[in-house]
Amino acid sequence: MQLPTDSTKEQGQRLQMVSLLKEMGIHNPTVINAMESVPRHWFMDPGLVSHAYKNKAYPIAAEQTISHPYTVAYQSELINVSEGAKVLEIGTGSGYQTAVLKAMGLAIYTIERQRELFKKTQRLFDQIRLRPKKYILGDGYLGLPEDAPFDAILVTAGAPSLPKDLLRQLKIRGRLVIPIGTDAQVMHRFTRTGEKTFDKEQFGEFRFVPMLKDKN
Ligand code: SAH
Repeated sequence: MQLPTDSTKEQGQRLQMVSLLKEMGIHNPTVINAMESVPRHWFMDPGLVSHAYKNKAYPIAAEQTISHPYTVAYQSELINVSEGAKVLEIGTGSGYQTAVLKAMGLAIYTIERQRELFKKTQRLFDQIRLRPKKYILGDGYLGLPEDAPFDAILVTAGAPSLPKDLLRQLKIRGRLVIPIGTDAQVMHRFTRTGEKTFDKEQFGEFRFVPMLKDKN
């Protein structure tokens, strides 16, 4: 199968999008390079492709959304890992965040609970030859105990409360980046400081689709 196209116009729009992200405070060079290199329009519904480089969230399949580019970049910075780190993503969705994390040189494990979306994104991953270490249909509340511990866990859906299983799957000094809240969410970062101790930091307010239990 052929790779989808990435025209010079789209590449130009992408650089403009990244300039905006820098103005908004994104500064990590690895994140910036990744955002410049991943064609976001590959991850959008065909009818919305012309909007791919706006800093907006858009509908994908199964009533889910592709996150704002700013949110993707911001969470990618907050995990604060270096090349080769082992990262678990919860909420694969369109696969865009997965592709950005891959472009950052990370080893990615990713979980999606929605079967329809899971299959659609699997087809896209095959087409664009994006190969996470593992791509799983399952319930992210459980994490991935058989592959733990992780350097970072990044949750891309809004959790009503903190899923304790995820904390247990962090390495010492590992980080969990997770939006917590119901209507709106506050971005949280938990850093494991010891066997049973964690530091908690809070960042701005965001809006995510809800993190739901069980797979569908
Ligand atoms: N990073 C994605 C965000 C998609 S929206 C993107 O930019 O496209 C959040 C995704 O989390 C949705 O696809 C939703 O189905 C998924 N999700 C919600 N609860 C989940 C859970 N418990 N486990 C795994 N995925 C979940």
